[in-house]
Amino acid sequence: MKIIMLGAPGAGKGTQAKKIADAFGIPHISTGDIFRANLKEGTELGLKAKTYMDKGELVPDELTCDLVVDRISKDDAANGYVLDGFPRTIPQADALTNALAARGEAIDFAIDVDVPDENIIKRMSGRRACVGCGATYHIEFAPTKVEGICDACGKELILRDDDKPETVANRLRVYHEQTQPLIEYYTNREVLYTVDGTQDIEKVFEDIKGILGK
Ligand code: ADP
Ligand code: AMP
Repeated sequence: MKIIMLGAPGAGKGTQAKKIADAFGIPHISTGDIFRANLKEGTELGLKAKTYMDKGELVPDELTCDLVVDRISKDDAANGYVLDGFPRTIPQADALTNALAARGEAIDFAIDVDVPDENIIKRMSGRRACVGCGATYHIEFAPTKVEGICDACGKELILRDDDKPETVANRLRVYHEQTQPLIEYYTNREVLYTVDGTQDIEKVFEDIKGILGK
């Protein structure tokens, strides 16, 4: 089962992708997580990506597409995967479509987690990320057991630099300009499904399970 998560930054793609990955036993592949892991390790890719991420811009396609095509070719992705944060541009979607077509494959489900811009700022300003394992929480909607401490690994939680309101506004602008056209792209390929992402986390997941037939 090959799944793409679409939606604005902060719509809940990562939250739902993790639940799908756990339920279906497939890897959750997040380009944002890959860039942040590279930055933490101080790789050249991580340092290059940071200059774009800090401004709320997209990392150039040439740094992104090959990385994902390589990742989905790994053994653990043989039975499918859930892609979170990729594709984000039409050229990225074309690169994915072409790489899959070369193996006689195609995306099965593109799930658009639909949340209006008005709700996004609150989502992002309350999001907290673990400095250790990258797990994501929300101070109001998905709190940890102990405030400021990751449930999964016990490390400290932070507000991501790119979740600060001034950067979020630019990320939303970039989303509408460059990523939203993918809704039409996958509608035309008859794999687009929309869920109401303003519902609570469990209800959104119920709707997604209905779409995926589980
Ligand atoms: P994305 O991966 O689309 O950027 P996340 O999954 O990280 O978004 O979610 C953004 C923030 O909103 C996180 O703090 C998360 O805990 C919270 N969140 C996710 N889904 C919901 C929801 N349905 N209702 C309320 N808060 C949510
Ligand atoms: P995310 O964790 O998905 O919110 O991504 C954080 C940031 O990483 C984005 O704002 C971009 O700067 C960068 N990024 C993640 N995925 C992509 C992608 N597919 N294409 C370009 N930039 C990306």
